[in-house]
Amino acid sequence: MQASILFETGRPQEVVDVDLEGPKEDEVVVRMVASGVCHSCLHTADGSWKGTPLPMVLGDEGAGVVEEIGPGVRGLRPGDHVILSWAPACGQCHYCATGRSQLCEHKVPKRGALFDGTTRMTLDGKPVYHYGHVASYASYSVVPASCAVPIRNDMPLEQAALIGCSVMTGVGAVMNTAQVPPGASMAVFGTGGIGLNAIQGGSLVAANPIIAVDIDARKLDYAVSLGATHGVDASKDDPVEAIKDLTGRGADYSFIAVGVADVIKQAWECLAPGGTCVMIGLPPTGSTVTFDTGSLQADEKVFRGCKYGSARIRDDFPRMVELYLAGKLRIDELITKKYSLEQANEAFEDLAAGVNARGLIVF
Ligand SMILES: [Zn+2]
Ligand SMILES: [Zn+2]
Repeated sequence: MQASILFETGRPQEVVDVDLEGPKEDEVVVRMVASGVCHSCLHTADGSWKGTPLPMVLGDEGAGVVEEIGPGVRGLRPGDHVILSWAPACGQCHYCATGRSQLCEHKVPKRGALFDGTTRMTLDGKPVYHYGHVASYASYSVVPASCAVPIRNDMPLEQAALIGCSVMTGVGAVMNTAQVPPGASMAVFGTGGIGLNAIQGGSLVAANPIIAVDIDARKLDYAVSLGATHGVDASKDDPVEAIKDLTGRGADYSFIAVGVADVIKQAWECLAPGGTCVMIGLPPTGSTVTFDTGSLQADEKVFRGCKYGSARIRDDFPRMVELYLAGKLRIDELITKKYSLEQANEAFEDLAAGVNARGLIVF
């Protein structure tokens, strides 16, 4: 099958034919229909996130059709439409059992492998690694059955692909992680795929105002079209001052949707007393954060992380599908350019340049 492979960080990917093995116990083969182009893959490709086993098939945001199921798989059959999840949810562990499946304890023994420690893709007999269980930059992907979440057959799979990472993470950060109430003020730092979805999450829960912060005027336009009430160009204005001016006392919630350590300070300082800062974007490996302990204690501020929009994928993916089909969640507007698999490098260049709301590879 055709796959786009990262052989070396900092170098372009190459589309080659790789050998695909059938599914083992509790695995399924999915024929990919579409894959979003996500910043986490760019961080891996450019080497800012370390420790990636190579060669690897990237792609963490995909949807497709189940082609084949392995032994022991229940609840899925060939022909089912699925959104892929980069976080397994075993359904059995402490976190799955207590409704926080995003923290599932069932982990692969080594990065880039499936649960038995091996890969299902090989090139000249050598392993080709899977990116985060999904590996969606290939025409087929073998994934753990718990990472293939079935959805309604009438949901368009191109739009469904985005639910697999950016939509779920951004909307979920607001609805699940922070549980922003109606009328609360919020600021979103970084208006890439995840930030734009945090903004539309704010719109869905009727937050007000919803302030978008970016250094790219074009992306601020996308933000306003998806529900931001104000855009702050941080290349021109101090975002902390601007947010305090717009809200009076500071933001009730701030969301960091960009992997830049300096932004964390701004997202913390723009908060009102009692405010919550949610870190979604992950800065380069080894980054640290410092803040004045007084600002934590005296103002009762909260700093918390957000993994995958705190999604309970089995329930939340179908919920996002229903919101889309009801016209309440906007995904069509997010897909600003489509690419073929051969254009994966071009899609990454456009992502790095901030051209798209979201680029989509279509098979
Ligand atoms: Zn992603
Ligand atoms: Zn679990």
